[in-house]
Amino acid sequence: MFTSFDGRSVVVTGASKGIGKGIARVFARAGADVLLAARDEQALAAAAAELDGEGKGRITTVSVDVSSAEECRRMAAVAVERHGGIDVLCANAGIFPDRALAEITEADLDEVFGVNVKGTFFSVQACTDALAASGHGRIVVTSSITGPVTGFPGWSHYGASKAAQLGFLRTAAIELAPRSITVNAVLPGNIATEGLADLGADYIATMEASIPLRRLGSVEDIGHTCLFLASDEAGYITGQTIVVDGGQVLPESLEALQAAG
Ligand code: NAP
Repeated sequence: MFTSFDGRSVVVTGASKGIGKGIARVFARAGADVLLAARDEQALAAAAAELDGEGKGRITTVSVDVSSAEECRRMAAVAVERHGGIDVLCANAGIFPDRALAEITEADLDEVFGVNVKGTFFSVQACTDALAASGHGRIVVTSSITGPVTGFPGWSHYGASKAAQLGFLRTAAIELAPRSITVNAVLPGNIATEGLADLGADYIATMEASIPLRRLGSVEDIGHTCLFLASDEAGYITGQTIVVDGGQVLPESLEALQAAG
């Protein structure tokens, strides 16, 4: 089978809920020590209590705002101090506020790019030395189909930030390859999370109907993809992206989807 993650140190940003918590759960079950990073300490504590006992490894937390380079350096230092190093970074923290193009302000752009783009840069920069020291460092960025593949009204700034992550990873993959670190991205479609639930029942029903596999993804669907990209067996894959969307981006038209029955 695949690599054992027993004793491996994994940092997951945005791990207090949603996809990040699902990624953390999958790595915990695989035996890893997992550092959950997000801003809200109470939510982090609740997530840690939920994940505790899922696997053999330690689950610890750090309150961090990834849009701050200094806080990302503190996050990496905490992982090294508590878990002895960093083998895997899942740069997953992200926000997706909804605003029409005509109404987007400079502050909106700063907020979305601050978390989604600068947060990815800073998390990676902060963890690079420890990842290199492991001899098999793995970085998995959570991007999205929105931006790199598709568009959705209200998310021009969000889509641009998710596409920017892919521009970043292609060069980061080249620069970090000599240090035996791979950099890849998972592009989720619509995944059932607390964040998505906030968009409302109508949005979710429409989305399910537009997905060939006829269901939203689970957070573990994304976690398993991250686990694969973090495995020794994926060690020759770098600078790549994997769409995990139940086939959502495939139909050319509504007719193409309905013709399948
Ligand atoms: P979510 O449920 O809203 O969770 C977001 C997580 O990120 C939380 O833990 C949040 O905790 C953390 N976070 C937000 N801003 C942060 C900051 N400045 N510093 C540190 N942590 C921060 O969102 P999600 O749906 O799981 O999304 C996670 C990632 O998946 C995002 O990158 C998103 O773009 C991507 N994605 C999601 C979907 C989907 O269908 N859900 C689809 C495609 C891509 P705090 O607020 O406490 O910091």
